Order: sequence, then C-alpha cells, then structure tokens
Amino acid sequence: MSGPRHDGAVLPGGVLGILGGGQLGAMFAQAARRMGYRVEAISDVADCPAARHCDRLHVGDYADTTFLTAAAANLDVVTFEFENVPSAAGAALAAVVPVRPHPDVLHTTQDRAREKAFLERHGFACAPHRVVRSREDLEAAVVALGLPAVLKTAAFGYDGKGQRRIDTPADVAAAWEALASGAGDRTFVLEGWIDFACEASVVAARGLDGAVAAFPTFRNVHRHHILDVSSVPAGLPDRVADAATAITARLLGALDLVGTACVEFFVTKGGEVLVNEIAPRTHNSGHLTIEACETSQFEQQVRAVCGLPLGGTRAIGPAAMANLLGDCWGLDAADRHPAAPIEPDWAAALAVPGVRLHLYGKTHPRAGRKMGHLTALAATVDEAVNRVTEARRRACRGPA
Ligand code: AMP
Repeated sequence: MSGPRHDGAVLPGGVLGILGGGQLGAMFAQAARRMGYRVEAISDVADCPAARHCDRLHVGDYADTTFLTAAAANLDVVTFEFENVPSAAGAALAAVVPVRPHPDVLHTTQDRAREKAFLERHGFACAPHRVVRSREDLEAAVVALGLPAVLKTAAFGYDGKGQRRIDTPADVAAAWEALASGAGDRTFVLEGWIDFACEASVVAARGLDGAVAAFPTFRNVHRHHILDVSSVPAGLPDRVADAATAITARLLGALDLVGTACVEFFVTKGGEVLVNEIAPRTHNSGHLTIEACETSQFEQQVRAVCGLPLGGTRAIGPAAMANLLGDCWGLDAADRHPAAPIEPDWAAALAVPGVRLHLYGKTHPRAGRKMGHLTALAATVDEAVNRVTEARRRACRGPA
C-alpha cells in the first residue's frame, strides 16, 4: 500500500494494477501515467501492447494464484481489461487488494448463460434465448425460438469467436459440430436472430459513491461479428438514446459495478432497446472518447476505480472510429496472409483531414485481429464516418 490516500481514494502517486495486457490495458496505462500513477500490468504473455506503456509487467499464468498474489503485493487497486480469466484469479487478487469492479461482476458477465439469467432476473429486455447443453436441447431450442438464430458458446467468446448462425434446420448439425467439438464445458446459448434497425452501445462509469456518468450513446456497425465502425452522435431518437442510457445506469447499479463498463444494444425497428452484451471494462466502441469527449473512457476508468470524481462525458463534436484489423496487412485469394504482411500505407491514411492513428504495437497481424484504429472528428457525423473509412481504404492492403 504505497500510494497516498484521501477519503478512500487512491491518489496520483499510487500504484494501479491492470489484469490483462492488451490494447485496453495499454490505453488505461497511458491515461493513468499521464495523471501521475504508476501502472503494473499482469499478463500471460510478455510481448503484449501494455508492455510498452506500464511501469512494470508481471508475466505468469492467470490460473496461478501464487503468482497473482505476489504480483498484487505492491498495488493499491486492481482493475481489468480482459474478462476471460478464471474466477479464482479475481478471488486471489481480491484477497490482497481492492479489485474494481468486484470479481463477482466478472463471474456474471464472462458467461453468456449467467449474464442472460442476470438480465432476466432484473427485468432487462434482451434477445429471446435458450440455454443449450446437448444436441437435443439445441433441437428443442430451435423449435421454441424459430430461425434464423445464432448459437454462441457461453464462455470465452468474443469478437464473433464461438458463434454460428443457423438459418435452416439443415444448419443445426453443422453448427453443433463446429462449436461443441471445441467447447470445454459444452454450455451454449441459442439466441433468436434480431432483425435490428441498428446497434448501439453506452459506455458509462460508476464511482465508489454510486454516481454514474454515461458517455453519449454510440452507433455501432459490425462486420463478421466484429465491431467495424462506431460513431457519435448515434442519430437515434432521444427516447431511444435515453432508454439505452437509463438501462445502462440501472444495470451498473444492479451489478454494484465500480469502474467503467459498456452495454451493447440491439435497437429494434420498433425503437425497443434490447441488451446484447455487458462488458465490465472499457470497450472498443468507446475508443473515440479519447479525442471526442471531455474525458476519455480510460481516464474515466482510472477515476472510477481510484474513487475520484468522474469526469465530464460530453462529446465535443461529431466523431467516428474505424477498426484496423490484421486483414489490412493484405490477404491472398485464399484469405490467408502472404508470407510477409504488407505494412498499410499510413501516410495515405493520415492525409485525410482530421484523422488520428492509433496502433497497438502488435507484431503479428492476423485476419480479424485488432491491430489499431482510426478516429476522426468532423462537422457532421456522416463526414466523420467518411473520413475514417476513406483513411482506412487508402491505408489497407487487403479489403478495407
Ligand atoms: P456478440 O459477440 O454476441 O456481441 O455478437 C457480435 C455481433 O454479432 C453483434 O454485435 C451483432 O452484430 C451480431 N449478433 C450477435 N447476436 C445476434 C442476434 N441475436 N441477432 C442479430 N445479430 C446478432
């Protein structure tokens, strides 16, 4: 316990731990160090994006509680950027240091079946679904929900991994084979396919005192189940955006979450907002807050987990963010990378006015891997979206 404290707050000079070493951890570390904190990341790989941005990197196995306890010895508070860690990891850390959000939140949100049960218990509308544990369950769920539907592994799924869309009864066997053969505990969720008008998300922080500050609602477009472009303002009727914000605030309270989190929504054609997923951490759709909002989602995470007042969330203008996946480094006709990935043309991207480049320092581009993103501010949201997509098109060696 090295940092100065005030009214339970961890003040600048304190040591913040982040579980996970990916880009979310790297951007958290950048924000925290700018504010005068030391940051120590805990990662299962040494060559990770956070390595270049933190004061110390602890490398070990997330299942090794002795390693985690030793890593936490010098920390004032721990938060996380990656939720697919064993429950025992959170418990081991929480035994020696405040962990925010509390590991119980991780336990609820890291498993789609538990998350859906939580949503139902608290009366949050979400996609119709059934928990599936066998091929027979799946057949029954398809009958109950109808098609199309999407089968998702309950645990360890993100960015479309562990998902199969089922369009016709003939797809059922293939979807089951594809997912059940690789799954550890063979628990799945079948969700009815939502013919949504658009997707949206709300990133919000909740402080130690229970105060909630939400960023404006973002509009999100996914490609192949992976976030492609986020933009603000979302262009939703006030009633819809306000409902998404209110649901998010209520959800964070119901989870008793301290930290930054994101709730992803399907907005139906009738203007209903259905909760799709909860991420109890900063989120890809919130990256544009770095340039576009009074406080970034990463600074907000620092403030929340340190027990400080939350920052302003207002967007200073229309903005958009486009992800840069490994695909941009070039794909051959068979959808594989050529022997040597081709570096995208960053100069061409940066020639587009208002565009900012973020690269995460990952050395191996792979199809679907998040390597970086582009953000642009503009006079209108359409212009901001045009700028980031045009910049990406100019840079990319593969399909942009
Ligand atoms: P997820 O990892 O569950 O957030 O899914 C990634 C993306 O796949 C979502 O953002 C949607 O674009 C799409 N998707 C997932 N589930 C559904 C669903 N039940 N209905 C329609 N689209 C979905």
